Amino acid sequence: MTSSRVPHLTAKLQGFGTTIFAEMSALATATDSVNLGQGFPDTDGPREVLDAAIGAINGGLNQYPPGLGLPVLRQAIVAHQQRFYGLSYDVDTEVLVTAGATEALAGALLGLLDTGDEVVLFEPMYDSYQACIALAGAVAKPVTLRPPAYGFDVDELRAAITPKTKLLLINTPHNPTGKVLDRAELQVIADLAIEHDLIVLTDEVYEHLVFDGTVHVPLATLPGMRDRVLSISSGGKTFNTTGWKIGWLCGPPELITAAKTAKQFLTYVNGGPFQVGIAAGLAMDQSFFQGVAANLQARRDQLMPGLEAAGFEVYPTHGTYFVTVDIRPVRADGDGMAFCRDLPHRCGVVAIPNEVFYMNRHEGRHLVRFAFCKRPEVIDQAVERLQRLAD
Ligand code: PMP
Ligand code: GLN
Repeated sequence: MTSSRVPHLTAKLQGFGTTIFAEMSALATATDSVNLGQGFPDTDGPREVLDAAIGAINGGLNQYPPGLGLPVLRQAIVAHQQRFYGLSYDVDTEVLVTAGATEALAGALLGLLDTGDEVVLFEPMYDSYQACIALAGAVAKPVTLRPPAYGFDVDELRAAITPKTKLLLINTPHNPTGKVLDRAELQVIADLAIEHDLIVLTDEVYEHLVFDGTVHVPLATLPGMRDRVLSISSGGKTFNTTGWKIGWLCGPPELITAAKTAKQFLTYVNGGPFQVGIAAGLAMDQSFFQGVAANLQARRDQLMPGLEAAGFEVYPTHGTYFVTVDIRPVRADGDGMAFCRDLPHRCGVVAIPNEVFYMNRHEGRHLVRFAFCKRPEVIDQAVERLQRLAD
């Protein structure tokens, strides 16, 4: 959030400014820095996925796909949910393809929330949550996760729920912390959702990117939860296709209908040929999914010692593209925003100040996120450059 007032901009979006990802990627380009800021891989995903999309373009699949998404992708999503989690969804009423997880979030939040409704969620949080809740005229109620473990306080979570709470918004594996909620933590959330009759929106875009044998458990698999959870995922992270913006929602028909009613007036539909590509990806062997996670884990294990050697306090990360550090050992005033704006000039590396993921900004002021979804040589180069901080 920035403080200067933007003329003409709706009051709902005053303070949101330009996303930090756009700002920091532009800075990376301008300074020729290694970009460990915005989370995107620097290699292509599987050939089969790319070829399926190319084949669809060459095959003439270039007009509007159906509003719900191409049947081939909806079928692939249903099969994926069954194969990995034992969850059954109806292909015609319980799946909706969207323009990335971003539009899935927007469609669900705009379709479900009324003015004054409250959404309980954890901070740090992905930046679009707060903006979409604001656009819906609703109110975000954050519960803070704190390092190093980033667990939550059950009493704090319980206290955040009021009679105005309509939904809980959960992200696991979690951006930016790499926290993966375990079954016991999810059970607490499920119990509260059932007790207060709440809908739960689960952002699971990093579902396949978990490390060290950690298991991603979808909240919808817990007893009594399948029909109150609207789960969100996206092909961008798993298949290295973040520019394709193919995401989806799975949930009971009435929640899908609410999200679809808003979604149809956002993009209506998008990315027909890319939907075919992601369908091919979702059908790939187990070994592919394991390989993606193992490769990313190796990149994590390459970057983390480098960050430690540069002098940061580095927190554990169990999933996603990201690792968070405390900058105070290398910058005593703990100003992460100033540190990130200065780092490209000082070291030729770009990172993201975690403060932007918090409503209580002071909680994340001294924390900075580095992405490790990059080629080994790129990570080596970043580590070498960051060593200047220690020297
Ligand atoms: N949720 C989280 C937690 C994310 O990190 C991201 C972005 N990468 C998104 C949603 C948006 O995903 P997409 O690019 O598919 O819109
Ligand atoms: N999700 C990615 C990240 O957290 C970037 C998404 C974006 O640029 N909006 O870095």
